[in-house]
Amino acid sequence: MSSKVPFDIDVAMARVAEAVRPFPKAALFELADEGFRTPFQQAVACIISARTLEEVTLPTARRIFAAAPSPADIANLSVAEVDALIHASAFHGAKARQIHEIARRVVEEFDGSLPCDEATLLSLPGIGPKCAHLVMGIACGEARVAVDVHVHRVTNRWGYVHTRTPEETSVVLEAKLPHRYWIEINRLLVPFGKYLCTGRLPKCSTCLVLEMCRQVGVVGRLISESTVRSQVVQPGRWHRSCWSTNF
Ligand code: SF4
Repeated sequence: MSSKVPFDIDVAMARVAEAVRPFPKAALFELADEGFRTPFQQAVACIISARTLEEVTLPTARRIFAAAPSPADIANLSVAEVDALIHASAFHGAKARQIHEIARRVVEEFDGSLPCDEATLLSLPGIGPKCAHLVMGIACGEARVAVDVHVHRVTNRWGYVHTRTPEETSVVLEAKLPHRYWIEINRLLVPFGKYLCTGRLPKCSTCLVLEMCRQVGVVGRLISESTVRSQVVQPGRWHRSCWSTNF
């Protein structure tokens, strides 16, 4: 008989909030707390973050905002100058062109201030649903569900959704996730997925959500110390741990 208790999203979110407290915040939320919270700044930061480590996103975003704080400032730079400012980011050449084009449009079409309008955001180069939803939620205070790989993986492992893609997850979460968690789900599950419910070796044995998590796609395995690394309890021993098969 299963020892699991029914999944309770309120309890899960509270426990995840407690679990991620020691870890760095998701980059866009950290930047917002530092004052970089206009729609334009959040959009630029989200573009920089694509396929880029949080540890690189943060200093790169700070660097471009220090050099060119406003859309007009960035529009006055050349694409090459924008590229130099975000050089540490992956695909910086394409991102520089996108950021420069967004800055130009904001200056020419929106009088220098990017509006809180989802359709407008989605019309901008480099801005897909995830970034548009993050901007709407963090910068505009209009909650949307922003699904990245972490939100997709964790909510599927919980058994809270049963989806194949982040896009499907977004649709399902907007139908069943209580509205009060629409912004929180990204703020909490990004660090939770990055540091605890990780892709290959989720830390199930110490997870605060274990009793209600269905661990979909996660199986218990006996694995060696050299494989387990971050989960070692007693050096030189074999340990039962978790291993992901699906996500
Ligand atoms: S029990 Fe395991 S799979 Fe479930 S949330 Fe925790 S770490 Fe992730």
